[in-house]
Amino acid sequence: MHSRLTRLSRSAAVILLLIAGSVYAGSSANAFMYASSPVAIVTANAVNGNAQPAITYSYVNAATETVRMSYHSKGALPASCSTRDAEEDMRGEVTTSTQSITYGGTTYNLNNVHFHAPAEHSFNGTYEPIEAHLVHINNSATPKYVVIVVYIYSTGAGGWTDYDKIISDPPVVTPPLNECQPAEDRLDVNPRNLLPVDISASAVTYRYEGSLTTSPYSGPVAFVIFPPSAGRTIQSGYRDDYIGIWSGLANGNAKPVTGAAHTLYKKPWP
Ligand SMILES: [Zn+2]
Repeated sequence: MHSRLTRLSRSAAVILLLIAGSVYAGSSANAFMYASSPVAIVTANAVNGNAQPAITYSYVNAATETVRMSYHSKGALPASCSTRDAEEDMRGEVTTSTQSITYGGTTYNLNNVHFHAPAEHSFNGTYEPIEAHLVHINNSATPKYVVIVVYIYSTGAGGWTDYDKIISDPPVVTPPLNECQPAEDRLDVNPRNLLPVDISASAVTYRYEGSLTTSPYSGPVAFVIFPPSAGRTIQSGYRDDYIGIWSGLANGNAKPVTGAAHTLYKKPWP
């Protein structure tokens, strides 16, 4: 009996080592270091961030852009066409011109804007309905990513914003509710309107260093978060459509806050 238990224990230990080894082999070290986002933003905990890198933006300010909206799937297609996953989203790529920011003097190009519903970063305990991630990338810089977070909420059925233009009737909502439907172009979008209305010295940002919130969770990512009061709006019907895409999942397509330790900085624009 004793030797049988020992054998079982050894077998279990070997299996655990194999599992640990395969997980490690299949992921980058970055994934372990940076799988820290999202976090709860608690403004009372923010420290003076005036020494944080300055940001400037160079976005087209005219309704001349074509944004290509597509479903960002996880898993092999077409088998997973209709299988929702929390790490999937609808995302738009600006196709007509290049939008960029500078972060600490280094240029980062806008790669995509995508959306999580509900919001991933709680803000003083509240989750807004939708959180937009404007993902800027510079592959040869550190951090590699600068993600600007804009909360999207609804004031009802009124208005017709640039977020309405790109989020409304996303491909996956059109029957047959299929993630493999082709991308759809949204015309006459003003990229500037994806950022908050007020980007001046009176605008406040909250910053922390984290990771991408979806696989492979790489980083570092400089998160630049505008408070909900600086958010943009979407019509309630389009909001509900977007949320409904992941209605079968307990937390939609949002990753829960991780509780990871982080330093939160408060910095006026830029
Ligand atoms: Zn995201």
